[in-house]
Amino acid sequence: MPELPEVETIRRQLAPRVQGRVLEALEVSDPRWCWPLAGTEIAAAVTGRRVQRLGRRGKYLVWELDDEVFLIIHLRMTGTLLYDPPEAVGHARVRFTLADGHSLLFVDPRRFGTGQLVLGGEALDTFFAGRLGIEPLEPGFTPAHLRALARGCRSPAKAFLLDQRRIAGVGNIYADEALFRARIHPLRPANRLTSPQLDALRDAVIVSLQAGIDANGATIDDFRDLDGARGSFQNEFLVHRREGEPCPVCGSAVRKMVVAGRGTYVCETCQPRPRLRRPAAR
Ligand SMILES: [Zn+2]
Repeated sequence: MPELPEVETIRRQLAPRVQGRVLEALEVSDPRWCWPLAGTEIAAAVTGRRVQRLGRRGKYLVWELDDEVFLIIHLRMTGTLLYDPPEAVGHARVRFTLADGHSLLFVDPRRFGTGQLVLGGEALDTFFAGRLGIEPLEPGFTPAHLRALARGCRSPAKAFLLDQRRIAGVGNIYADEALFRARIHPLRPANRLTSPQLDALRDAVIVSLQAGIDANGATIDDFRDLDGARGSFQNEFLVHRREGEPCPVCGSAVRKMVVAGRGTYVCETCQPRPRLRRPAAR
């Protein structure tokens, strides 16, 4: 599933090709994409408008159109955007036509991807306020902010990182990589992390996401960039998807376990397992 670095890769490639252009047509061939709105309703709201800016919030791509009309796209599991796609592409769900003659195709075999319409800046703030926490690559993601988030959270560190309402954009890959870099076991409760551990985790989240962006994202199954190319971050994983391989730091075998319902990769030498708290002796 595309995470922040994969969506940011698409945004960076797409922004110079759509910003300042007029969206001439939007053809929705899969009503599930924009449900409960009809494809014709969402098309009527966005067509004829100029793309002011293409932004990103968490894993969402935000098309900012004239008059504060926002089209918000989430790729979910298998969504991809292709610029000037070849003729016969399977699983095409939505076609965007730009007034400059270029087109963009939203392709999504599993059909979980969504397009949502939001009208007005205030409505946009409300939309994201209920769904997303802080942007980890923004200056506001400080050690103090992360400490405040962790204070009341008894969930395992992995679940803490995956909760989009706390930190936006981190998914399964980057959570594993960040916890490894910070030498924190994914099962350690967030509210029992020490200040030095939280400081290390904040840096590790930033470094891991940035490394993903620098490699144009990770392609495990489906992710392709705008031109259909694979990302390369999967070749740089430290622990994620490396079960049984040697830890790059200490050489111990990387283990796979399930945490927060997700396949999770860990070096239990570098990331010591938390000890169970025993009741105090009387
Ligand atoms: Zn290790």
